[in-house]
Amino acid sequence: MRKKLVVGNWKMHGSRASNAALLSGLREAGPWNADVAVCVPFPYITETALALTGQAMSFGAQDCSAHEQGAYTGEVSAAMLADVGCRYVIVGHSERRAFHHESDQLVADKAKAALAHGVTPIVCVGETRAEREAGQTEAVVKRQLAAVIHTLTHCIGEIVLAYEPVWAIGTGLTASPEEAQAVHAVLRMQLHAATQKSDAMRILYGGSVKPDNAVSLFGQPDIDGGLIGGAALKAADFSAICRAA
Ligand code: PEP
Repeated sequence: MRKKLVVGNWKMHGSRASNAALLSGLREAGPWNADVAVCVPFPYITETALALTGQAMSFGAQDCSAHEQGAYTGEVSAAMLADVGCRYVIVGHSERRAFHHESDQLVADKAKAALAHGVTPIVCVGETRAEREAGQTEAVVKRQLAAVIHTLTHCIGEIVLAYEPVWAIGTGLTASPEEAQAVHAVLRMQLHAATQKSDAMRILYGGSVKPDNAVSLFGQPDIDGGLIGGAALKAADFSAICRAA
């Protein structure tokens, strides 16, 4: 009943030339049965929008400010993302939590700002390797999600959630389908307690998803697609993952 969603996170990669080649490869490979989107660096949003005109694929950004507007040099507001047509924005990616010290509350505030402008936040949660080894996986992801539930209250059903174990991102290590499903089930139960929409909400898995592990991950009952980093930079790999969804 939930349509799968596959989102490419290009991170800080690309150039006008390489993006054009990648998007043209994806245009030729699609359409797919799943919903598909690419979240691109800010300077390339408008060109991506043009390249995807008339295509089923959506596009978005990788972060936004929690502030509405003002003297916040270097920040990009959710209103600006809406203005250039973004459908999605990733918030709370582990790289931003780690390198930019983003707190659970700041991530929740960013999600709120995005929703206020009709941009769907893809909220990332996930534990580090040390937290997993200490048996804290469930407590960590529940704490991260709780801040978002508390902040969004009745709008929580409008987000996309992404479970991304930090130890699996860009490392080639992947949670097994069973390990990932176990966490997704915990997150769905937490959403269930917060909203009647929980059964319709999409919870993506991210962390070294590749064409050869996508089918088994996406086959799990609570895994509704993927957030894809490295493999989103090659048209053949990303389209194979979209086909698997
Ligand atoms: C990500 O950055 O969200 C991600 C999942 O990266 P990778 O697929 O490269 O592990």
